[in-house]
Amino acid sequence: MKKVYCIGEVLIDFVAERQGSDLTKANEFTKKAGGAPANVACAISKLGSNGVFIGCVGDDPFGKFLLDTLKNEGVDISLTQLSDTFTTLAFVSLSEDGERDFVFSRGADKELKYNPNLRKNLPGNILHLGAATALLGGPLEKTYAKYLFDGLTKEMFISFDPNFRIDLWKDDEETFIKKCMPFVEKSHLCKFSMEEAQLISGKEDLHEACDVLHKAGTKIITVTLGKDGTLLSMNGTKKVIPSVKVTPVDTTGAGDAFIGCLLYQISDLGNFEPIFEDFSLVENMVATANKAGAITTTNYGAIVALPTKEQLEN
Ligand code: ATP
Repeated sequence: MKKVYCIGEVLIDFVAERQGSDLTKANEFTKKAGGAPANVACAISKLGSNGVFIGCVGDDPFGKFLLDTLKNEGVDISLTQLSDTFTTLAFVSLSEDGERDFVFSRGADKELKYNPNLRKNLPGNILHLGAATALLGGPLEKTYAKYLFDGLTKEMFISFDPNFRIDLWKDDEETFIKKCMPFVEKSHLCKFSMEEAQLISGKEDLHEACDVLHKAGTKIITVTLGKDGTLLSMNGTKKVIPSVKVTPVDTTGAGDAFIGCLLYQISDLGNFEPIFEDFSLVENMVATANKAGAITTTNYGAIVALPTKEQLEN
């Protein structure tokens, strides 16, 4: 099996216990491991493949908690970096009217440095860039670009999830779009939510949106549509692959479970050629990834809820 290198942020989400209190009033918080690329690495390892996480945490108890969490899920953390800066923290609560109150205290995640020694390990494997905080600046943003532009695109399978977070880009969506475009251009596979596909392409209609995004460079596009399934677009064909019927309790992490499961299946292929040519092969993979997303919604939390191979097969 090929390795899947997931690069980007890992952080602590402190989630306020009771809905109805904004952050000025919230007193109790639950500590949860978060960060989309870290979740994706967990999804891959939980399914039995080689998820490798490359990110940076503070040399503090929160950083230790994050690394222990990833290790317990079987993720290879040998390439993570430690920083003197504190671990990145996010505080979230839902006010009475359901509005999110959000404070982001950015720390060590932005300090990730490019590792030139990796250059020799990456070819033939998969690189996943899940950019929730990576495009916000700091050394991490430069590191991201370096992995993407270090001549690797021909030698690796590259996957990109823009992970747009309105809380982080509220008044600066144009900059977000501009920063995403080189990644859409260089990646073989892009996973968007409906909102991301529309925002980045500037097109309301999803078929038109996919056409714009293909034109930018990416060959395979998946647009996840929650309970309505996933739109797959490649080689001039577009099709919505239906989701599995479940009773969801918490949709956190469904998108990460989806892309993790898709990359897990790609990591099992002898070579990457068939997925650029065979629509029905990718369609079947998306159907399985939809299952992983659906299972994740039936349990609380992100990492805990990710399915194992046995759960996926049953
Ligand atoms: P995230 O907020 O984690 O980034 P996302 O918006 O990228 O998520 P979703 O569309 O919510 O991703 O979910 C990913 C996949 O999980 C969907 O394409 C679908 O297959 C499955 N899924 C999500 N919600 C449900 C649901 N309510 N019922 C069945 N399947 C679901």
